[in-house]
Amino acid sequence: MSYERLEQCPICGKEEFKNFLVVTDNAVSKESFVIVECENCTFKFTNPRPDQGSIGQYYESEDYISHSNTKTGIINRAYHVVRSITTKQKVELINRHSPAKGAVLDYGCGTGVFLSACKKDGWEVRGIEPNGRAREEAAKETGESIAQNLEEIAGEKFEVITLWHVLEHIHTINETLEELIKLLQEEGTLIIAVPNADSHDAQQYKADWAAYDVPRHLYHFTQPTMKRLLKRHKMKLQEVLPMKFDAYYVSMLSEKHKEGKTKMLSSVVNGYKSNSYAEKNGNDYSSLIFVAKRK
Ligand SMILES: [Zn+2]
Repeated sequence: MSYERLEQCPICGKEEFKNFLVVTDNAVSKESFVIVECENCTFKFTNPRPDQGSIGQYYESEDYISHSNTKTGIINRAYHVVRSITTKQKVELINRHSPAKGAVLDYGCGTGVFLSACKKDGWEVRGIEPNGRAREEAAKETGESIAQNLEEIAGEKFEVITLWHVLEHIHTINETLEELIKLLQEEGTLIIAVPNADSHDAQQYKADWAAYDVPRHLYHFTQPTMKRLLKRHKMKLQEVLPMKFDAYYVSMLSEKHKEGKTKMLSSVVNGYKSNSYAEKNGNDYSSLIFVAKRK
């Protein structure tokens, strides 16, 4: 096991942080991790964190369902119903920003569900997925070969690049964003979805908030910090959209952390509360989609 400590804030480069919260990895290791907050720009990140060579073992769990297609258990069943709805919404979103369609790159495509829907809708699709098992499933799902890393698709250009709950997992966040932006067509659209650490469910569940998901989530974005990151990369924000189902899903997982079992009623109530809060308080939904283009 090997950890690394960031000495500089990945967004603003300043070196002063305060401890924000200590969170336990409930899904896999049961280890605790510190989330720090930058004194200058308020960016929150897991620090220290397992380095790139060590992080793999924190993904080795059957509970980590973003990489699997099992349909057992009530949470997984709900997840699959919701996924078919949200996949459709994601395809509608890219069509709205790129009506002529073209090529879409999904960075961290998981098992390829989104790409498969894009392909059926008439898009050329490209996926990158570092996890071998997920990559094989994605290749089957899409009928396309899936790349393991960015080097494998050098020189290609895309109308749309998407990162659905992926950016918070990337050690080399600035380098990877820079590489991805180079692959965008001049008028291309970058779409980044991440959990929102300013949401009502985050504030309510605190260390039990499932979307902290340490140490797999290295960063814990908010609207101001994501805007600052996009600015650093000379990207102009077009719109911020909610992912309303995430409030229920994250509340369900958070209740399980907190109470040791699935509590459906509280999850539904708290998911609803989170979405109502966001409607009245500056769009601070449980998860947000940031849509950006070059300046
Ligand atoms: Zn900072």
